[in-house]
Amino acid sequence: MSAPVYTRVALIGLGLIASSMFWAMKRGGLAGEVTGFAKSGASRETARRIGLCDRVCDSVAEAVADADLVVLCVPVGAMGAVAKEIAPHLKVGATVTDVGSVKRDVIDTVGPHLPEGVHFVPAHPLAGTEHSGPESGFAELFDNRWCLLVPVEDSDPDAVAKLRALWEGMGANVDEMDADHHDLVLAVTSHTPHLIAYTMVGVADDLRRVTDSEVIKYSAAGFRDFTRIAASDPTMWRDVFLTNKDATLEILGRFTEELFALQRAIRTGDGEHLHEYFTRTREIRRGIIEAGQDTAAPNFGREAPKA
Ligand code: NAP
Repeated sequence: MSAPVYTRVALIGLGLIASSMFWAMKRGGLAGEVTGFAKSGASRETARRIGLCDRVCDSVAEAVADADLVVLCVPVGAMGAVAKEIAPHLKVGATVTDVGSVKRDVIDTVGPHLPEGVHFVPAHPLAGTEHSGPESGFAELFDNRWCLLVPVEDSDPDAVAKLRALWEGMGANVDEMDADHHDLVLAVTSHTPHLIAYTMVGVADDLRRVTDSEVIKYSAAGFRDFTRIAASDPTMWRDVFLTNKDATLEILGRFTEELFALQRAIRTGDGEHLHEYFTRTREIRRGIIEAGQDTAAPNFGREAPKA
């Protein structure tokens, strides 16, 4: 077990990411005391019941008072308002970070609220599940996953190094990236795929009305994987699309062009085009497995569902 990286950490928002951070920090002995705050009394009660956080506070001011690190773990659309609320209560020398899935918008909405003498180091762990809430977290969520630090222009190098040590202690591999590049990369790897999954499940839902329960009954791996992604938290994903608008629309435009090309290949019977395309995409899957970011086991290593 390593020495604590921070004496006092405050987690604002107590959902999947915050609860996983808490368990991972406890596992690694990375924080002296962890306080927590969630918007609803129900989430705070759940947190107290399951021992999530050393101290669950009933106000955001109490949670951040005297904290060395404050982590904003709320939906991206709520980050600015939360930053405004915590600002007067932050300790001089504290670091404020976040875990939001979009970075430019968070920098623009949070940054202006933070007082002099408080360090701001935005971050984004590339790890998650379709579950949300205080009971969904687990210590291993970040193991061997990437966490991208997105320092702002005047981020203090020592504050960045300390946050890196925390994420590495929680099991993550850490890289640094510029905010706009982050948002474009994530539009390709996460945001647009989620939109496509939401759309496909929506289409199948329309079809289900026609074919009764066949879509559910015969839901094979491809569709089941879409439904898992499309079960992700509606608030979080609404905010992702509203705040990463330009990059998502750019990638969606390219996606639509490729889709039309494949559509034409199917209509004209151009098997060569389809085969070449699928060979190229298969290589991408191989690369992900070789990089240790997924399993090569059939069906993602899951057991076959009971008939
Ligand atoms: P979550 O499980 O839905 O939890 C969100 C938490 O934020 C809840 O505890 C909620 O409180 C709280 N909250 C919402 N608005 C608030 C406000 N105005 N003030 C205080 N607390 C507020 O969400 P999550 O999956 O952990 O996501 C949190 C952040 O991490 C998001 O910015 C998301 O983009 C990012 N992220 C998510 C994933 C993922 O796969 N889920 C991966 C990487 C990054 P109540 O429970 O009281 O409503």
